[in-house]
Order: sequence, then C-alpha cells, then structure tokens
Amino acid sequence: MKRRQFVGGLAAAATLSACAKNDTDCNVGAAASQETFEWSCVTSWPPKFPGLGMAPENLATRVEKASAGRLKIKVYGAGELVPAFEVFDAVSRGTVEMGHDASYYHKGKVDAAQFFAAIPFGMTNLELNGWLYYGGGMALWRELYAPFGLVPFPTGNTGVQMGGWFNKEINTADDLKGLKMRIPGLGGEVLRRAGGTPVTLPGSEIFTALQTGSIDATEWVGPYNDASFGLHKAARYYYYPGWQEPGPGLETIINADAWNSLPADLQEIVSTTCQAITTDMAAEYTNGNAMSLQQLKNDPNVELRRFPTAVIDLLRSIAQDVVEELMAADPAAAKIGKAYFEYLDVVAANSRIAEQAYLSTR
Ligand code: CA
Repeated sequence: MKRRQFVGGLAAAATLSACAKNDTDCNVGAAASQETFEWSCVTSWPPKFPGLGMAPENLATRVEKASAGRLKIKVYGAGELVPAFEVFDAVSRGTVEMGHDASYYHKGKVDAAQFFAAIPFGMTNLELNGWLYYGGGMALWRELYAPFGLVPFPTGNTGVQMGGWFNKEINTADDLKGLKMRIPGLGGEVLRRAGGTPVTLPGSEIFTALQTGSIDATEWVGPYNDASFGLHKAARYYYYPGWQEPGPGLETIINADAWNSLPADLQEIVSTTCQAITTDMAAEYTNGNAMSLQQLKNDPNVELRRFPTAVIDLLRSIAQDVVEELMAADPAAAKIGKAYFEYLDVVAANSRIAEQAYLSTR
C-alpha cells in the first residue's frame, strides 16, 4: 500500500514540477486525474448483508463512478481478510486503507468511541447527525481516533432498533435474571447489572446460537435485518423498543496515511459519498423494516410485544449508572460524554415538540 501511494505521489509531484516551469501548458486537474488508487475495505458484516453489508459496497461503487475509476475500493466481508471485530486494528496498522463497522465494537480499546455509535436511551439517527455534523461531534471523533492513525466518517445508521427476540416472556424485571442474551456494548452491561448474562457474537453466529438454546435471547437490528437471519424461526417473542440502540451510527474509518495521500477532490468524493450512504441507509431501513414487519406480524409463530414500563424504567436507571461510570473511568469518555449529553438535552427538547408530538397525533 505504502509503496503504491509513494510511487503515485512521486509521479504526481513530477508532473506538477514540470507544470511549474511552463504555466501556460499546465493543467493541474488533468495531472491529478491520472493518479489512481486501489484500496481495500474490511467490514464487520456478513458479505453483502442487506443494509449493513451493502453500505460499504454501495460506497465503493459510488466512489469509483464519481471518481471515474481513480479510486477503486474492494470490499471484504467479516472473516474474508480479518475477523469481524478486528477492523479497527487492521485499518490502524495500515494492513488495509479502509474499514466499515460500528464504533461501539471498540469498547475496551477506545471506550469513548461508543458515544459515536449508540448510547442506551441516547440520541436517535437524526439527533446524532445533528450533533456530528453541526454540533461539534465530528471534531471530537477525529480527535479521539487521531492517536490511532484513523480518520472517521459517519456512514449509515440503522435507525431505532428492536429490543430483540426472546424465547421467554419478559413480564417483570425478574424475567431478566439469568437471561443469556446476545447484546453488545453498553446495553450488554446494563443487562448484566439487571441480572442477565450478556454475550457478544458477530451477526453470522446469532441464529445458530439462538436456535440451539446456547442463548435465550438476542438483539440484532430490526425487522429488515432480523428477518434476513431468520431469527423469527428461532424465537417467538419480538420485543420493542430498542432502548439499547436508539439510532446507532455506523462508521467508515480510513488510515490517516492513506487519507492524506488522496488529492483534495477524491477526499471530497469519499466524504460526500459517506454522507450520501447515511441518507440512503435511512431510506432503505425505513422501507425494509416496514415491509418485513408486515410479514412478521402475519406470522402465527411471532408475537410482537412492548417491554413493560417497569422493565424499561429499570433499564433506563441502570443505563444512567453505566454511562456515568464509563465517563468517570476515562478522561476521553468524560469529555465526549459531557458534550453528548449537553447536546442531547437541547436536541431532545425540540424532538419532543416536533417528531414525538407529531407522531403521537397521527
Ligand atoms: Ca443491535
């Protein structure tokens, strides 16, 4: 990778230097357009999985078209080049130039990264994007990843998730005790304190774990993605809402050396395309979740349930403790968490009189 970029850089520099001697013949744009890049992108998703796995595929296709082939990106599913949860390290080391995953998978390595994916009872998709693009969130994210040689870009968001699939009813908080559930990140820690046993599994392993009874419950995404895995064939009760992931943002991470080797116009193409994927994914999930929910509601083996209020109240209270402890234990999490919650206070006040008030009237 380094050698290819270096050679490309030299060629471009030679052309520019020749241009400098004769301004009238110089066309910097034409010189830049001859430089080509071939990148690899590793992901945490099953190859070409609807929504999650197609986001980096769509990103690659659009960037190649928009750049007239000057930047080609080959996308690898989880396990094809590196395991699902080693995307961060592979891009940080420069093994590959790019990765697509969710920043809460870096819990334990960069705890504060979780604020840029999802916080239980935290921001929705629209609120998170407000913070990232206009409320100062992006600057904090870039600062957090800089020591790892990574440049992050928001790239997709699943919207409010579902609470998950359960093989037993959840009628009271006691029903969470002893529950073995696939639920990653901070949501998993909340479940642990409520008496359950959280398990982290990549998407590809969830169905078998649920079907064989090695777990009692799982959250994954929502109707669109859950139906793709056939989770409704492995559990009966489908609970909502997804308190643990109210609007998880996904990320593209780019190796800083690779990013800096791109000319400004290709950087703009990558950055703008990442933003387009976020918009596109919101539309894809709005449609996909609606269509899949309709099918699941017609399935006699599926029971759609809302979590009892007392259970949600308990989980919310534990979630506050968990996030406060996260912030107390890590200076970066303290700084980013403070900014996150200050923004949440302000943005939620508007959401209550806008989306929330409107939806309750419809
Ligand atoms: Ca999830």
